[in-house]
Amino acid sequence: AAMTAELQQHIREIPDFPKPGIIYRDIAPLLASPDALRAATEVMAAPFKDEKIDIVAAAEARGFIFAAPMAILLGAGFVPIRKPGKLPFETHSHAYDLEYGTDELHVHVDGVQAGQRVVLVDDLLATGGTMQACCRLIERCAAEIVGCSFLIHLADLGGEAKLEPYRVESAIVY
Ligand code: 5GP
Repeated sequence: AAMTAELQQHIREIPDFPKPGIIYRDIAPLLASPDALRAATEVMAAPFKDEKIDIVAAAEARGFIFAAPMAILLGAGFVPIRKPGKLPFETHSHAYDLEYGTDELHVHVDGVQAGQRVVLVDDLLATGGTMQACCRLIERCAAEIVGCSFLIHLADLGGEAKLEPYRVESAIVY
C-alpha cells in the first residue's frame, strides 16, 4: 500500500485529453524517475515470481516499456503484440471494437508455443478491450495465460469482468 501511494505520486492527471471529459493518466513522470520505474516494474512482476513464467507478452507501445524488464525479472522471454503491418512473419490477428471503429492486433504464429506459461502486460486497464484482444491472440497460440499485470487499473470501467476468468494484478487502482 505504501508502494502504491509512492508510485501514484508519479502519475500526472491531464484533464480533457484526448477528449473533453476524459482524465488521462500520464505515466511519463513515472517513466522518467529511476526509482519509480524500477519499483513499478518490480511490483508488476512480483505476483508472478513463483509461477514459472515462460513469456511476458505485451501490446505496443506502452506495454512494451514494462514487459521487457519484467521478463528479465521473471526469467522469461518477451513477445511483442503489434498493430497491423508491423510484424514481418506470419501472424495470428484479432480485430476488436473501439468506441469509434475497430482496431486489430497481431502476434507471430510462432511467438508463443503451445503450453507455454504467459503473463500479459499493459500500462493501464480501462474497458479491457485491448487486453481481451491480447488474450485471444495468446489463446490462439494454445498457450496458458497465467494472468494479466497492469500498472494502473481504472476500476469503474468493467475491465476486470471482461478479462474473466483470468487473474488481474495491478500496482495502482483508481
Ligand atoms: P482499454 O482497452 O482497457 O479500454 O484501454 C486501455 C488501453 O488504452 C491501454 O493500452 C492504455 O495504454 C490506453 N489508455 C487508455 N486510457 C489511458 C490513460 O488514461 N492513460 C494511459 N497511459 N493509457 C491509457
